[in-house]
Amino acid sequence: MVAVKSKKKKQLYLILLICLELIVISYFSFSFLSLLNPPNECNSCNVLIITMDSLRADHVGSYGYSRNTTPNIDKLAEKGVLFQNFIASGPLTFISLPSLMSSKYPVLTKANVSFEKDEDTHLFYLNESHVTLADQLTGRNYKTAAFTVTGWTKYTNMDKGFQLKNNLLDKGPYEDVIAREEAISFINDSMDDKFFVWVHFQSPHTPYTPLYQYNETFYKDNNYRKYGLIDIPNNKLPHFLVNNEPGGYYTVDADYFVSQYDGEIRFIDNEIGKIIEFLENHDLMKNTIIAISSDHGESFAEHGLYFQHEYLYDDQLKIPLVLYNPKFPSQKKIAKQVQGVDLYPTIMEFLNLPYKKEELDGKSFNNLIAQKPYEERIAYSESIDYNSFSLRTNDWKYIFNSNGSQEIYDLVKDPEEEENLLIRKKDAMNLLDNKFRREIKRYMN
Ligand SMILES: [Zn+2]
Repeated sequence: MVAVKSKKKKQLYLILLICLELIVISYFSFSFLSLLNPPNECNSCNVLIITMDSLRADHVGSYGYSRNTTPNIDKLAEKGVLFQNFIASGPLTFISLPSLMSSKYPVLTKANVSFEKDEDTHLFYLNESHVTLADQLTGRNYKTAAFTVTGWTKYTNMDKGFQLKNNLLDKGPYEDVIAREEAISFINDSMDDKFFVWVHFQSPHTPYTPLYQYNETFYKDNNYRKYGLIDIPNNKLPHFLVNNEPGGYYTVDADYFVSQYDGEIRFIDNEIGKIIEFLENHDLMKNTIIAISSDHGESFAEHGLYFQHEYLYDDQLKIPLVLYNPKFPSQKKIAKQVQGVDLYPTIMEFLNLPYKKEELDGKSFNNLIAQKPYEERIAYSESIDYNSFSLRTNDWKYIFNSNGSQEIYDLVKDPEEEENLLIRKKDAMNLLDNKFRREIKRYMN
């Protein structure tokens, strides 16, 4: 009898010991995991990336624009983080969007050849060996879909890795509206699972023909007159302007075209508003990460380029990035520069998913948002048409042109990049810090 009692006691003691051990182990592993887990972690969250073509950051309301072009984006910016210096990997769609989706720099970075030349089209095709953000999430049981309205999708493979690839170009004047409708329909069918959706709207790309009433929204707004009448040399006319005037110039009211460009932004902002409204009505804002951005900016008359985008100046490289993560603090603005290739690894960290960091050119800027140690990086961009590239810090821009000419701009004193310091000062290179000079040499070799 005594032996049985003591056996029971022993069993009880053993059970108590195991329970205690379990409590201790789970406590320590919980603490350990919290140390390991990145800040802003949003496990199993959905991802929605929306880009619109040719959107300059300075034409977005929350970036300080005087016109009310983006009420819906501005509302989202109040709930998330706005990056004041987000730099595209190039001023052309077929350079920047494959870079955004693959976190690989474009072709001229000799250390990281990212694109294969397609012999038939003579364009550049995203290498099949690169693992895109869509590849990552498709492989993790996300339902993934890309709704792109651009002629470049099929030539660049920019939607590599998405299960559903829906290129809606040439679906008529309402192609952007169709893209929005199809994206909402896909989310509606996928919300019981995790989803990753990318929508790329064609507007506000030229020829600036906004739908609905948006062609009049800003036209009669006399508060905004910046460019006035400009003379465009015939050989620099954009594709949508035909010169009916005699002589070598075509005189146009640039502010009229800017008002139509702004009308297109407002039109797309309205489409974005409908997608966000859908997410709100279906309680998806609590578990969806949203990024709103562009592929590149647009020059209206700056640097001798009229209603186009081909050069490496900030009007064509500085694009908006509004990032919403339910785990973020709201109403945050970050001035430190980040770049297109950095978005993919940042989203991977938000989702707390492992990935091969060494295979990507981008680096996560999650720590920057969380105010943890973050090493500032040089932004690299290139323009394939002219075989030129630029390196940019928060304070300086260096441009190397294919004809061998070089440019240096002091972005603090000269944000419009009007005075090339290498013309006036022979020793302009010495103005740059050692690290930047070393980086320039690395790219020159
Ligand atoms: Zn574009």
